[in-house]
Amino acid sequence: MKEPVLQITNVTAGYNSSIVLKNLSLKLGNGEVMAVMGPSGCGKSTLIKLIANLLQPFSGCIQLIGYDMRSIAVMFQSPLLQPWLCVETNVALPARLQGKTIDTNSLLTAVGLSGFEKRYPFELSGGEQRRVALARALAQSPSILCLDEPFTGVDELTRERLFELLSGILYNQKISCLFVSHNPYESVFLADRLLVLGRKPTTLIAEIEIDLERPRRAELMKTQQFYKFVTLAREYIHDST
Ligand code: ADP
Ligand code: MG
Repeated sequence: MKEPVLQITNVTAGYNSSIVLKNLSLKLGNGEVMAVMGPSGCGKSTLIKLIANLLQPFSGCIQLIGYDMRSIAVMFQSPLLQPWLCVETNVALPARLQGKTIDTNSLLTAVGLSGFEKRYPFELSGGEQRRVALARALAQSPSILCLDEPFTGVDELTRERLFELLSGILYNQKISCLFVSHNPYESVFLADRLLVLGRKPTTLIAEIEIDLERPRRAELMKTQQFYKFVTLAREYIHDST
């Protein structure tokens, strides 16, 4: 593996006195895309909160190597848009606060929301709100991107277009990415490596290398190779539930 940019070592974490993640260790390599899968409630979002520094572990440590928190963009499971700001201002806000200039129009076009610039979050569907949150994360030009179920609620065709778009962006901008998902198709499509978590208290139960060339195109989803990995991922997820 390439040198790590994020290293999680023996992390035990949870809420109050209840343990969710137990002795979890993982490394995200420079430029690597890693999918973390596991059953509902196993602690995937908890992992994202730990990386975002919103939750402190009971023990163990989380380190960024060669980067600091300004290099990370996080998309949480709930879109967390500012209700009083329109779409384009929501997308631009964190990047502007960091002094970065961005092209909101091309980002919104990329996520299929051209023409939505002046709408407010309450005027969007759940899937549209998530796409705004994805555009907002990408607008920060992060070195490390963490995504929590980025495509939930997005319709099938838009989702496939977004897979391809995201695969291209991650590859071209050499972004290291950790995303959590419970969907084997999106995980296999995007990731170099797939980690499968078990039930609470949660440990790592499997690791699958996905040695398919990146960036990936939508046609990949019709190939046997792709299905081989999806089937493998499903078997492990089945074992973990
Ligand atoms: P996942 O994202 O894998 O579905 P979460 O990380 O959201 O799971 O939650 C893991 C476990 O922690 C669940 O049992 C959930 O009920 C519990 N949990 C999540 N957030 C809190 C919280 N703020 N306080 C107490 N328990 C929580
Ligand atoms: Mg979650």
